[in-house]
Amino acid sequence: MYGCSACGYEGMLHSHGHYKRNVITLHGHFIIKIQRFKCPSCGKTYSLLPCFLIPYFIYTFDVVIFCLYSMLVLKKTAMNVCCILHEYNKQCFISIESPFFFKKRFLSKLNIINSFFVNIDSYHYDSDLSRFPINEAAALLISKIQDYNSSKSFNYDFYKAMPEYFLSA
Ligand SMILES: [Zn+2]
Repeated sequence: MYGCSACGYEGMLHSHGHYKRNVITLHGHFIIKIQRFKCPSCGKTYSLLPCFLIPYFIYTFDVVIFCLYSMLVLKKTAMNVCCILHEYNKQCFISIESPFFFKKRFLSKLNIINSFFVNIDSYHYDSDLSRFPINEAAALLISKIQDYNSSKSFNYDFYKAMPEYFLSA
């Protein structure tokens, strides 16, 4: 990792151990190591998250997007989504609260997510989200994320461009 956003240090940050983290994907439950770094100038520590993770979410980006797409675009219920996830992944004990939580967080972030797409796209008729009811706006954006993610990493590119993590509090 290079550079420190806290103090402006320009140079390589020092590696500073790692921690273990539970991760639930569409297909299994894993424990992975997250590398930590420390700024030699001010001492601030950073974690380098792989691009399939969202900070503080045990479920991977793919699981979250799957839930959001299923509910917002395919109009499935949260219960339905949980059942499908259990079938994919027997180690996934997702409860019905999680898809609701993902949706609530997503709805609170529509404007910043939309601004990511406005920055990279030329203006489209659907760039003005205020023209749509909130659930339609959310369905539009989750479809855009899905499309974008088929060739690139939305999660990583969003973080680089905004810069805040996708769905961060
Ligand atoms: Zn620093």
